[in-house]
Amino acid sequence: MKIEEGVGLARFTTLGTGGPARAFARPESEGEVEELLRWARDRSLPVSVVGLGSNLVAADDGVEALILKLGAELATIETHGDTLRAGAGAANAVALHRARAAGLGGFEFACAIPGTIGGGVWMNAGAYGGDFAGVLERALVATADGSGWLTPAELGLSYRHSELRHGQVVLRGELRLRPRSPDEIKADVRELNSRRKAAQPTNRRTFGSVFKNPEHELSAGRMLEACGLKGHRIGGAQISPKHANFIENAEAAKTADAIALMAEARRRAHEQFGVRLEHEVEFLGELELPAL
Ligand SMILES: Cc1cc2nc3c(=O)[nH]c(=O)nc-3n(C[C@H](O)[C@H](O)[C@H](O)COP(=O)(O)OP(=O)(O)OC[C@H]3O[C@@H](n4cnc5c(N)ncnc54)[C@H](O)[C@@H]3O)c2cc1C
Repeated sequence: MKIEEGVGLARFTTLGTGGPARAFARPESEGEVEELLRWARDRSLPVSVVGLGSNLVAADDGVEALILKLGAELATIETHGDTLRAGAGAANAVALHRARAAGLGGFEFACAIPGTIGGGVWMNAGAYGGDFAGVLERALVATADGSGWLTPAELGLSYRHSELRHGQVVLRGELRLRPRSPDEIKADVRELNSRRKAAQPTNRRTFGSVFKNPEHELSAGRMLEACGLKGHRIGGAQISPKHANFIENAEAAKTADAIALMAEARRRAHEQFGVRLEHEVEFLGELELPAL
């Protein structure tokens, strides 16, 4: 199997920033993933997966890890009765399309989540009242010691969180859906997409919500808007003028610009509201926000 060195990660993230990975491979089967996990263990190299990179920022000076991008057999989708079986590398959009064609509803919430099944399990991604925890029957997870199926309870899924750690690779997910007419699904998806378009930046390079919503009457977006941060810019990154909980790559942004914006937003939210915002976006490499 080909293991490349120094592959730039910017083209694997929707923000379009980030330096090279120490090692990079595109496994196409369960066996290849296990082999790569053992290869990395023998070299004491951490392992992470990139899905569609829609919730990721990677360090500008690179990532000392083996990065995996799942393909082929690990991105296939099939339906059996009410169950949709998807490779973790399959895009949500394709899985939703297949579910609709098979007359299976329940995955409509994912229409506006531009990631993969694996990324969705890892983050327990969700929108409009639905999330992966609500539809996932079980997920096949690989480690260097072998693979096994885990239930949502074993995965520890909660709000934008799982107990999975880097080095555990989601290979497949099985979603339990319910019969629904393709026309109803189509109408719902159209409605959800137009709500999304009205509220959030589209056709911009972003990584989705920057911070998780805090336990507060204001959402993270409203809070940052009240701090006057809409449109605030550092280097090539700016807080979206449309929704303050999004950061856009306005012009040749670096990861450092996005991190500096996040630090500033967090500082201001703490100062004005006494709230410590927790980031939803995942960090790859040596990245951290300054303590408050
Ligand atoms: C415009 C926009 C809108 C968005 N809206 C939403 C929304 O409404 N709700 C929401 O929840 N999210 C939203 N997001 C964020 C993002 O799409 C989700 O978190 C998505 O689930 C990430 O999937 P991904 O495949 O892109 O994962 P990546 O961003 O590639 O990775 C995210 C994390 O998952 C890990 N990972 C990915 N695949 C695997 C795997 N197979 N095995 C182990 N670990 C894995 C990565 O290592 C990383 O830690 C949005 C993003 C954008 C850009």
